[in-house]
Amino acid sequence: MKNNRQILLSALVRAKLSRLCNKMADSVSDMENVGEKLENAFIKQERRTENSQSDNKVSGDNEDADSVEEQPLDIGEHYLVRRSDGSWHPAEVIQTRYNDAEIHYEYYVHYEGYNRRLDEWVQRDRVMISHFDMSDHQWKNSERISAGDLLSDQSDRKITRNQKRRHDEINHIQKTYAEMDPTTAALEKEHEAITKVKYIDRIQIGRYEIDTWYFSPYPEEYGKQSKLWICEYCLKYMRLEKTYRYHLSECTWRMPPGKEIYRKGTLSIWEVDGKDHKIYSQNLCLLAKLFLDHKTLYFDVEPFLFYILCEVDKHGAHLVGYFSKEKESPDGNNVACILTLPPYQRQGYGKLLIAFSYELSKMEAAVGSPEKPLSDLGKLSYRSYWSWVLLEILRDFRGTLSIKDLSEMTSITQTDIISTLQSMNMVKYWKGQHVICVTPKLVEEHIKSSQFKRPRLVVDTSALRWAPPRKAQPTRPGKK
Ligand SMILES: [Zn+2]
Repeated sequence: MKNNRQILLSALVRAKLSRLCNKMADSVSDMENVGEKLENAFIKQERRTENSQSDNKVSGDNEDADSVEEQPLDIGEHYLVRRSDGSWHPAEVIQTRYNDAEIHYEYYVHYEGYNRRLDEWVQRDRVMISHFDMSDHQWKNSERISAGDLLSDQSDRKITRNQKRRHDEINHIQKTYAEMDPTTAALEKEHEAITKVKYIDRIQIGRYEIDTWYFSPYPEEYGKQSKLWICEYCLKYMRLEKTYRYHLSECTWRMPPGKEIYRKGTLSIWEVDGKDHKIYSQNLCLLAKLFLDHKTLYFDVEPFLFYILCEVDKHGAHLVGYFSKEKESPDGNNVACILTLPPYQRQGYGKLLIAFSYELSKMEAAVGSPEKPLSDLGKLSYRSYWSWVLLEILRDFRGTLSIKDLSEMTSITQTDIISTLQSMNMVKYWKGQHVICVTPKLVEEHIKSSQFKRPRLVVDTSALRWAPPRKAQPTRPGKK
């Protein structure tokens, strides 16, 4: 009897909450309808009829739990969803989940036209009750125009492709499938299908609780948690805080495994061989995937070396970021994946890692380039690093320089040098090849421009203790 009463009571509470939510959503939507004429033009109203709502009321107060259960929104439908900055944006419902603790559904939504990093779990009160008709493509055009306006406000000139690309990168605007070549579009669709829903919202690592950005393939029961607890030293991941607390009392690690190859002040870099420290490397890749959209390597870590950047204090070496590098790269890549953890971003660590990867390439007497595709943030960092390196050389150099010379001096590939110089208008195509074309004035202008950023942290090569590994003998054909 007592159980039944409890069920009935909780059903009543649910019904009340659900009606309250609906009412709130309705009134929000009403306000929007009055205030936002523009949006109104694109929204096809699909309001629930008065009848079905009053049906709900009758059955809700005295009947079985099923009929009063909040009905989840349909997956695949589009709604206007309130983003965390308060703005409303068309979004697709990708997944639903029931939050037992708070007795309501939550929705995993993708904001149309935005990078999937911004996909998130939202509660019902952030979803406008009216459907959004995606066949109405007008909103897309209005988005494009407003993005254009934004740029033309800054200058009356026509936006160049470079500016557009930069703007899109900074604002995380994803290309549509139509804008991609067919292969990329197919790969992208497959990638999206596999990685659509990000269950892990947050992680605790060391003293930081961090919101995650993307899906990561943590094994089954771990992958479905909304929060994971990660030991900042050995990178073991746990579902429960109490397991984590216990682990901290037991774990003896205070730094990455492998060899410390760089130490300057409080900054330290370790080289970890994926073959010697497989679990650590796998855990690092799983962690990194939470912040990288296009990372395909998680478990096959043996062919890679990992360079781990840490801030060292009296407690230990705290993970800041890392890059991985194939031991043998057929494509000439000197970086496979590169990441700075969010709490350490925008402080110069990413560019320090990039610079470090080129220092290693210089010592190997090889040129290298990061593996593609780069993340949007990665692209910005690399372009900024390349510009800085090239401008510094061009400013101080007297005489003639070829692109090949620049490449040998910096270990940056000729392709990357050309694209960087092109973005600064410093290269001409003449008689079948690219020729550097600069004046001291042009170099100075770029150095003074807001886009030029001197790195906050630079590599002190005298603090580097490293020699290139001996290359493995080329494998004979037919042998693996
Ligand atoms: Zn540990």
